Amino acid sequence: MRKISKAERLNTFKEVSLGFSQDEAVEEAKRCLQCRDPSCIRGCPLEIDIKGFVGSIARRKFKEAIEKIREKNPLPAICGRVCPQENLCQERCVLNKKGEPIKIGYLERFVADWERENNLRKNFNFIEKREEKIAVIGSGPAGLSFSFEMAKKGFKVTLFEALHKAGGVLRYGIPEFRLPKDVLDKEIEYIKNLGIEVITDFFVGKTKTIEELKKEGFKLFFLGLGAGSPKFLGIEGENLNQVYSANEFLVRVNLMKSYLFPQYHTPVKIGRKVGVIGAGNVAFDCARVALRLKSKVFIIYRRGELEMPARKEEIENAKEEGVEFIFLATPKKIISDREGNVKGMVCLRNELKEEDETGRRVPFPVEGSDFLVDLDTVIIAIGTQANPLIKEIIPDIDLTDKGFVKVNEYFQTSVSYIFAGGDIVSGNATVINAIYQAKKAVFFAQRFLNNV
Ligand code: FAD
Ligand code: SF4
Repeated sequence: MRKISKAERLNTFKEVSLGFSQDEAVEEAKRCLQCRDPSCIRGCPLEIDIKGFVGSIARRKFKEAIEKIREKNPLPAICGRVCPQENLCQERCVLNKKGEPIKIGYLERFVADWERENNLRKNFNFIEKREEKIAVIGSGPAGLSFSFEMAKKGFKVTLFEALHKAGGVLRYGIPEFRLPKDVLDKEIEYIKNLGIEVITDFFVGKTKTIEELKKEGFKLFFLGLGAGSPKFLGIEGENLNQVYSANEFLVRVNLMKSYLFPQYHTPVKIGRKVGVIGAGNVAFDCARVALRLKSKVFIIYRRGELEMPARKEEIENAKEEGVEFIFLATPKKIISDREGNVKGMVCLRNELKEEDETGRRVPFPVEGSDFLVDLDTVIIAIGTQANPLIKEIIPDIDLTDKGFVKVNEYFQTSVSYIFAGGDIVSGNATVINAIYQAKKAVFFAQRFLNNV
């Protein structure tokens, strides 16, 4: 896919990928073999009719294509941009054997953008009007999808969000240069048009409790709370000035628009040499944001290049933009100047030994191999966990050993009228996983309401 130039990227938060033109999309779609038994569909958690929509694009029937996608996916413009298609549908495409799978994600993005740009969003006729009030808590992809599907079934849905804007990680985590906020705004607007009430600045458990909402007539709840509490390294120096968790750093920049300070009120203090610990999508987002704030950036990772879990496309973009790498390094301590500001990080060199259950080799720090990395800012992007306050919000709910919400195969929690899905159930996962679980929960939530 065409991209904006490297020089332009470093001066802007504009989206890097430009998307397919109509002709490019049609040419790509024409490569599809229209397999009799299309394995790509089995690679998509939502089982979108990939063969069908790709065929429609090949015939320039774009409206038909997006309708096929929308039968299954409430957020196609987002999935087309951020889904790890290379490990899902595209991995299963028969043409992948030659290393040239159909670019299913780019095609999904193309028709979703075409639909939005032409204002062709379908209006739903509700088959049935239901009186039950449904409360959805959290407005990330899980909450948005649950709301959308329940509203389509005629229920009265209210979506509560703790932050001042809806979207969850899609809003505060994934930066504009991967997912423009106007694309997200349009998806949310579309969902709101189904009659869903979206209430922001409302922290369920504090602003009002679940018991209070029940008294207001809410019959069923869905928890799409995400897993936004940062994990830390547990090393000396993590409380120094200019040590950020990935979430704090990204929220300041993406949600609070600190890169436009003082036009926006929240600043972000960042130095000239930034070390980002971790090598997943989150770490790469932090690194590329820091580059755009004019810093020199190092990804510091305990394993090697081949083991980096981020999407290949984003690794490639980061390299093009000038992110540098320090592999096989375990942070030991962060050191400071007299004022308590970061001045460097001591790391240990690692050796990779046998593979773990994920198939990646396990790093072992080598005693006495200490080396100093000259840094003035550290961003820790080694994963997140569930909010530890969840038991205060819903005292009766059962949690897993790791603090996530326990659900049965129907995505129902230990409290029968509360369902849950997304990262609060699975831990850090993907957008498509959140959508999949929310859709499954809708099916069983409706069945539950019919039997109450
Ligand atoms: P979230 O998106 O976390 O949303 C939860 C929402 O609930 C938040 O807005 C939160 O404020 C709100 N909330 C929490 N508690 C309450 C409460 N008590 N009351 C009201 N509201 C509450 N996945 C991909 O597939 N591809 C990617 O490229 C990708 N990149 C990522 C980059 C970053 C920086 C991050 C952080 C994640 C990335 N992910 C990616 C993962 C993906 O974004 C998540 O798996 C997904 O957003 C989880 O969705 P969710 O709806 O479960 O939760
Ligand atoms: Fe087309 Fe590939 Fe799916 Fe076959 S597997 S239908 S070639 S996208």
